[in-house]
Amino acid sequence: MGLAAGRREAPGARDAPSRGVARRPVTAFPLALREVRHPGCMQQIPGAWQRTARGAGLLAADGAPVPTIFAEMSALAASTGALNLGQGFPDEDGPEAVLDAARRAIADGVNQYAPGRGFPDLLDAVAEHQRRFYGLELDPAREVLVTVGATEALAATLLALVDGPDDEVVVFEPYYDSYAACVALSGATLVPVPLRWPDFQPDLEQLASAVSDRTRVILVNDPHNPTGTVFTREVLDEVVRLAHRHDAIIVTDEVYEHLVFDGPHVPVATLPGAAERTVSISSAGKTFSLTGWKTGWVTGPADLVSAVLAVKQFLTYVGGSPFQPAIAVGLRLPDAFFASVASEMAAKAALLGTGLRAAGFDVSTPGGSYFTVVDAAPLGATDADAFCRELPARAGVVGIPLTAFASPAHRDRYATLVRFAACKKVEVLADAAERLAGMTRG
Ligand code: PMP
Ligand code: GLN
Repeated sequence: MGLAAGRREAPGARDAPSRGVARRPVTAFPLALREVRHPGCMQQIPGAWQRTARGAGLLAADGAPVPTIFAEMSALAASTGALNLGQGFPDEDGPEAVLDAARRAIADGVNQYAPGRGFPDLLDAVAEHQRRFYGLELDPAREVLVTVGATEALAATLLALVDGPDDEVVVFEPYYDSYAACVALSGATLVPVPLRWPDFQPDLEQLASAVSDRTRVILVNDPHNPTGTVFTREVLDEVVRLAHRHDAIIVTDEVYEHLVFDGPHVPVATLPGAAERTVSISSAGKTFSLTGWKTGWVTGPADLVSAVLAVKQFLTYVGGSPFQPAIAVGLRLPDAFFASVASEMAAKAALLGTGLRAAGFDVSTPGGSYFTVVDAAPLGATDADAFCRELPARAGVVGIPLTAFASPAHRDRYATLVRFAACKKVEVLADAAERLAGMTRG
């Protein structure tokens, strides 16, 4: 692979996020969150935290960092007693066999550091999983790396592969919050390609014009958070073509790989010519309903995985040992388990969609993931952020404004759009639908 170094150009006026001001007034925070702020002092603390928070749109006008939208909205749900269809975590635990394996691992003394790349059994299980579902052949010792969730995998990968303002990272916008934060921390430039309501597929010409010789990484999240979109084969082919043309690395975030409703999931690495330049990232959190275990993995060519490891080993060295053998058990569960993960979430998304339509929203149909995006304009919303802040009081439900996933300059494109999570018990989704249907006027 000829991933060119030395193709530096002067930083130009690319479509980087405007260095926006935080979207929330101090008074909007629950007490516990407000207490951690030190207005007036924070600007004086030098360090990379400032550009990280600013990159994620989480720096208030007074220079203090504010919590992520997930932290804020889950706190709002907890303080108001509203149903939390905001932060994407299931309200039921994953398979008994996997839970038992973790308990057993603790009892059996798997309680000290794991090897830096992960226990060989989990490395094998990840490689077996990639072969079984996608026909990808990996050397478990060199082409797999266990991480502390996909979050650490993304951070280590971006910090390893991009370096300073001349490097650009192309992302689809709206994007998962950690992308902009990590790109900013690395000092690189974020180049967003818009996804638009209601199907959220990118325009291929806009994609092509976003990728240039300055592009170091094209970051693809498929199925996509927050929109629930599954990208068409045409889009994925174009990503690979552009990566070759401009000698860029493809980084994929596939944490929702087993939540494609009309499967099968197509990893970018399976496309012709892609594997040699693709770093694939996934996690146990969504597949096994174990988001709190924070166990993820990176797969790809040995040299790229080693580059990621060079950074990862100084972020955490390793994650929680007893979870690793348990996730190996999970990855080896029969096909029927993985099929049921997708079919149960598809049924929940359909139920949620029906409820949201009945409540008067315009509803986008997701192809996968936990998420359904609605347009709240028919209910009088003009500002998704304000709408979500009022929703607990008006309806007893929490959602996430899509504006939180966009750079400040582009938030108007998503002004009335809200994300709801379907990864909740059927009775919770039915209750939420009923509450939304009876919503008081704003
Ligand atoms: N990427 C996406 C698209 C996500 O939705 C999430 C949240 N689950 C993550 C990464 C982070 O995954 P993890 O909890 O495994 O760190
Ligand atoms: N992935 C979860 C979501 O999109 C949030 C995880 C987090 O809070 N960082 O809802």
